[in-house]
Amino acid sequence: MARAGFKPLVLAGLAPGGLLTTTEEIDNYIGMPGTSGGHMAEIFLKHATDAGATIVYEEATRITAASPGFTVETSSENYDVPAVIFAAGANPKKLGVPGEELPGVSSCATCDGMFYSGDPVAVVGGGESAAEEALYLANLASSVDVFVRGAAWRATATAVAKLEEHPAVRIHMATVVDTILGEDEVTGVRLHDGSEVEVKGVFVAIGQTPNSSVAADHTLLYEDGFIEESTVPGFFVAGDVTNPSYRQVAIAVGDGAKAALDATTFLNLH
Ligand SMILES: Cc1cc2nc3c(=O)[nH]c(=O)nc-3n(C[C@H](O)[C@H](O)[C@H](O)COP(=O)(O)OP(=O)(O)OC[C@H]3O[C@@H](n4cnc5c(N)ncnc54)[C@H](O)[C@@H]3O)c2cc1C
Repeated sequence: MARAGFKPLVLAGLAPGGLLTTTEEIDNYIGMPGTSGGHMAEIFLKHATDAGATIVYEEATRITAASPGFTVETSSENYDVPAVIFAAGANPKKLGVPGEELPGVSSCATCDGMFYSGDPVAVVGGGESAAEEALYLANLASSVDVFVRGAAWRATATAVAKLEEHPAVRIHMATVVDTILGEDEVTGVRLHDGSEVEVKGVFVAIGQTPNSSVAADHTLLYEDGFIEESTVPGFFVAGDVTNPSYRQVAIAVGDGAKAALDATTFLNLH
């Protein structure tokens, strides 16, 4: 947008980088295989500032429609802007059990599954995303133990049937993971009944919390809080906050590029 003659102000939250900084290695982004998330964030940030964007490390606490445009409030400032691109992301939900911070615990099979080719892994969760993650891993890992807390799946019958017939998959219904075991890396999981299962990776697939609350007045939200669409002219949305199914940098970047083009057209017409 800076190159289109505007002065983009980026409210980047309290720290730079977003979810990228939570992972050592980013894959599935063309041209930068195996780059660390922190390095990728630095490159993106430098590109944005070199192009003319101003970055401030503040969190939007409220966005209200003004005429014209919007007022974006943070704890220290009010910014009056003619348009907003909202891309606040979504945070993977955590189990809240000991060992969850160990290397080897992931919330993204598409991102990290490759690291466990030929190794035993566990998936924790009982919804559609857990079933999809388990199916994805079943083609890579030596075995996939799936731990479903409830007595019934919340995934589609088709996905469950595929899992049930896959020779690498073992499904454990009504089974709670109490602890993720390991000193420096994951070695297994301990279940509620005290038994242990040896695995090298644990994929936690119990959903995500979209950071959509400050956008609620200007968007239509799905039941789970993700943004279905913007309902206000001049308010654009992009990235993980819009969809739990396509959590990838390439998608967020593509969404962001579309939002920037739409915002540029909007600003040129108003
Ligand atoms: C462990 C892990 C590994 C991954 N590996 C890969 C991979 O290998 N390849 C790949 O393509 N993808 C990977 N991903 C997914 C990728 O990181 C995300 O899809 C991508 O970062 C989404 O970008 P985003 O900008 O939509 O959201 P985010 O990266 O979450 O950025 C959102 C930003 O908005 C800020 N924010 C939130 N609320 C506010 C507010 N109120 N005001 C101001 N700022 C706010 C946040 O602090 C954050 O900086 C991985 C994700 C995880 C968790």
